[in-house]
Amino acid sequence: MACFEAEYASSDCDTGGGLSGIYGGGSNCSFLAGLGFVRIPGPGCYAPAGIAVVGLTGGSSAPAPQCPLVSLVGRFNVKPGVIALFAPDIASKIDAALVTINAAGFVPTITEGFRTESMQEARQDGPYGAAPVGQSSHEIGEAIDIRWLVPGTDKPVAGWEQIKAALLGQGLTWGGNWRKKDPVHFENVHKPDPNQVAACEREHP
Ligand SMILES: [Zn+2]
Repeated sequence: MACFEAEYASSDCDTGGGLSGIYGGGSNCSFLAGLGFVRIPGPGCYAPAGIAVVGLTGGSSAPAPQCPLVSLVGRFNVKPGVIALFAPDIASKIDAALVTINAAGFVPTITEGFRTESMQEARQDGPYGAAPVGQSSHEIGEAIDIRWLVPGTDKPVAGWEQIKAALLGQGLTWGGNWRKKDPVHFENVHKPDPNQVAACEREHP
């Protein structure tokens, strides 16, 4: 049975649940970041005033996101203007690498994360010859660029070999090994599925 708006105030819901203070989190409640309340199959759910509720009108359910993006844990810097969000699978690998990198005393700088379609378009004119729109793993959150040279020099940043080794140790592919070298680039997926690119464009315009 789907949850209708009239049923939010049901006493069946526990207060708090897994997301204390955000919603009444009975076992019938689901909450997805960015979507609000979704897919609440039972009657025992309510939302406090002011919290957005979606996907429940008439008992319909909002679809789960097809392009979830998450932030990283650990110490790192982010170049201004960069979206440091990643697909969950590569994020967990980067997080694991960051544990090693940070423990060795290094703090990498992320110079590219997720790219929207317009960001990928803008990179076409850049000095590094970015992939055509729709063909970069950055567009599905499955790639990360890490600063490797100290700006204005040809010297690697502190800890570069350790940073690279930690990321490779998590199974990521390094663009520095490609025929057309891209030493800042590490990725989890090489050729993005066009359907996934479309989902990411739709959900993260
Ligand atoms: Zn890249």
